[in-house]
Amino acid sequence: MSSENASAPNFIRNQIRDEIDAGRAGKVVTRFPPEPNGFLHVGHAKSICLNFGLAEQFGGDCHLRFDDTNPAKEEQAYIDAIKEDVSWLGFEWAGSVRYASDYFEQLYAWAQHLVREGKAYVDDLSPDEMREYRGTLTEPGRPSPWRERSVEENLDLLERMRAGEFNEGEKVLRAKIDMASPNINLRDPILYRIRHAHHHQTGDKWKIYPSYDFAHGQSDAIEGVTHSICTLEFEDHRPLYEWFLDNLPVPAKPRQIEFARLNMNYTLTSKRKLKLLVDEGIVDGWDDPRMPTISGMRRRGYTPASIRKFCEMIGVTRADGGLVDIAMLYHAIRSDLEDNAPRAMSVLNPVKVVLTNVAEEHEEVYEVPGHPARDDMPVRRVPFTRELYIDQDDFMEEPPKKFFRLAPGKEVRLRNSYVIRCDEVVKDAAGGIEELRCSVDFDTLGKNPEGRKVKGVIHWVSATHAVPMEVRLYDNLFLVEQPDKDKDADFLEHLNPESLKVCQAMGEPSLADATPESRFQFERVGYFCADRHACRDGKLVFNRTVGLKDSWAKIQKKG
Ligand code: ATP
Ligand code: MG
Repeated sequence: MSSENASAPNFIRNQIRDEIDAGRAGKVVTRFPPEPNGFLHVGHAKSICLNFGLAEQFGGDCHLRFDDTNPAKEEQAYIDAIKEDVSWLGFEWAGSVRYASDYFEQLYAWAQHLVREGKAYVDDLSPDEMREYRGTLTEPGRPSPWRERSVEENLDLLERMRAGEFNEGEKVLRAKIDMASPNINLRDPILYRIRHAHHHQTGDKWKIYPSYDFAHGQSDAIEGVTHSICTLEFEDHRPLYEWFLDNLPVPAKPRQIEFARLNMNYTLTSKRKLKLLVDEGIVDGWDDPRMPTISGMRRRGYTPASIRKFCEMIGVTRADGGLVDIAMLYHAIRSDLEDNAPRAMSVLNPVKVVLTNVAEEHEEVYEVPGHPARDDMPVRRVPFTRELYIDQDDFMEEPPKKFFRLAPGKEVRLRNSYVIRCDEVVKDAAGGIEELRCSVDFDTLGKNPEGRKVKGVIHWVSATHAVPMEVRLYDNLFLVEQPDKDKDADFLEHLNPESLKVCQAMGEPSLADATPESRFQFERVGYFCADRHACRDGKLVFNRTVGLKDSWAKIQKKG
């Protein structure tokens, strides 16, 4: 995989390189810390590539740690999916999978430590009262009336919270820091909440759960993480992250570094909102090929390499607010498939063509390269017969001037085969085209016709040998660039009603053997991937990964 040289520099990479050069760095340890409350999305891919990439480049370790402090929203199914996604992207976590819940006992002991030091207390304020006491950005907070409880009372109440003696919301454990701090995160943040919930890892053992802030940094410290990389919204939490490390007997002092999260146009990168699409049945599960989830992109036909390439392209900065153009993602997969996907012919909206001067039993087979530039790919055997299918789009009854495809009285070349002329359009009672009756110029195989120029080349399949297949054409799920820009409006209003179109297509015979997740360029049409679920059930279904036209390359050229 990517060596350090092959990777673009970024400020975190540079910083670690400087630490190494200055002799200040030991082994680099990073971690990817998802909460198992949904599937991973393309934003997480950025974080994964960064964290695993740094460990890889500097010969360190990257841990996979589930930040599982909120049992109400978490599930084993998400844990399994996340592990699969990280592996599929091509990364290996060091050691076994870790869980913040592995450290619950230690975290509890540290909470007691803070209590003993007079740095934490049990508070009886209700959530509403607590909010009121907290103050605002312009006004300092006020101390809770319970703030000065004795150490003994606090230790006792904490024990009883743990033992399940109180109801949810009745009490919390808070750090005693500074209710007047300009940083609201330091106004006595919550360390533990009461939750009578079943936890996917620890079962019914715990009645109290640590807050994200209390669990995260200490988990980093326990694991010997050196660089705790997170997104910019945690910048204001950094003083708290450091307060815990400074006030607890932790075995190591990790450092938090923030970077800008990925935001991409036409795309949601919030697990909560993606979950809504799933729960409302708007998409076909978390791995619907329209979803920006890693599993959705996989099912759509993205390769791990293309996603890693995309993450390199977008870079890592501290500049927030930018919106990445989804055309970059399309560019990354398109250039991968351009080089690596075998070609095939497939007719998405078939119209029958009858070649009147070809005999019924006539059959020839062309041996066609699997890929124009790759002789390591097997040749395809493409049969030619009297009856063919071409795409509706490649025929026009009344063509405009520059239409170089098939039209009454006009000629076109069949890809890898002869030039044909359309002699007659046969219609059904409703006026729809039933078939096109055409004739072949037999003197045009591999050479230009005598005395005239035929400009157009179209794809086709033999009607006798074609395999019927379903083709799913995907487009952006949303019609606007930032569907969730307006916080008060419903992002579902911006759904693209045409994000999925299904075609009953005809493919060349070689496609009958397509294995799940195999990828193709359907010539003149786009890049497609055999649907991993349908194909496993013995159905031939192809998902359009991306079209042929590269708008990103065009934008680059103009710039
Ligand atoms: P979401 O808002 O989608 O629920 P999250 O931040 O709550 O995302 P986590 O499971 O906590 O999800 O994320 C795991 C890691 O991935 C965190 O370190 C987080 O900073 C990072 N991450 C999440 N979203 C993005 C994004 N859009 N771009 C880059 N990194 C991200
Ligand atoms: Mg989070």
